[in-house]
Amino acid sequence: MPSGNVHDTVNTIVLSGYVAYAVASDQPEWFPAAVGIAVGTLWLSPDLDLKSEPYYRWGPFRVLWIPYVKAMPHRSIWSHGLLIGDVIRLLYFFALLFPFIFFGMYAEVIHAADLDRYIEQLPQFMTGVVVASTIHILLDHLSSIKRTKRRRAR
Ligand SMILES: [Zn+2]
Repeated sequence: MPSGNVHDTVNTIVLSGYVAYAVASDQPEWFPAAVGIAVGTLWLSPDLDLKSEPYYRWGPFRVLWIPYVKAMPHRSIWSHGLLIGDVIRLLYFFALLFPFIFFGMYAEVIHAADLDRYIEQLPQFMTGVVVASTIHILLDHLSSIKRTKRRRAR
């Protein structure tokens, strides 16, 4: 398995390339996808299935991820499966977020119009998260294949 640093570096290169391309070619609405790639790399990584860097980046909120860490076998299809891992992580994330949004609206810190705007940008954001985790999963598989070949060569 590549280290967290390798994952972060590769995803940052992809994010930088995407932002450079989007700005250079005047793409509209590239920002939510870019945020999705960053969040998918730093906080919603498939490696949230163990106490990894993405887990510790949640700071005091990492306690909210303990049930997820305990329930997910490391590198199982439920955390490292293409799309299925993202669906589960995003559902878990939105379930965590819901009470904060509810109280934010109740306290009038979050307004319905802002929330509508965020919801409109959700598909692009989620696409960014999927891109980040897909790269992560491909890198994990590549390093497994390399390790197997090296072991066979000995
Ligand atoms: Zn991984």
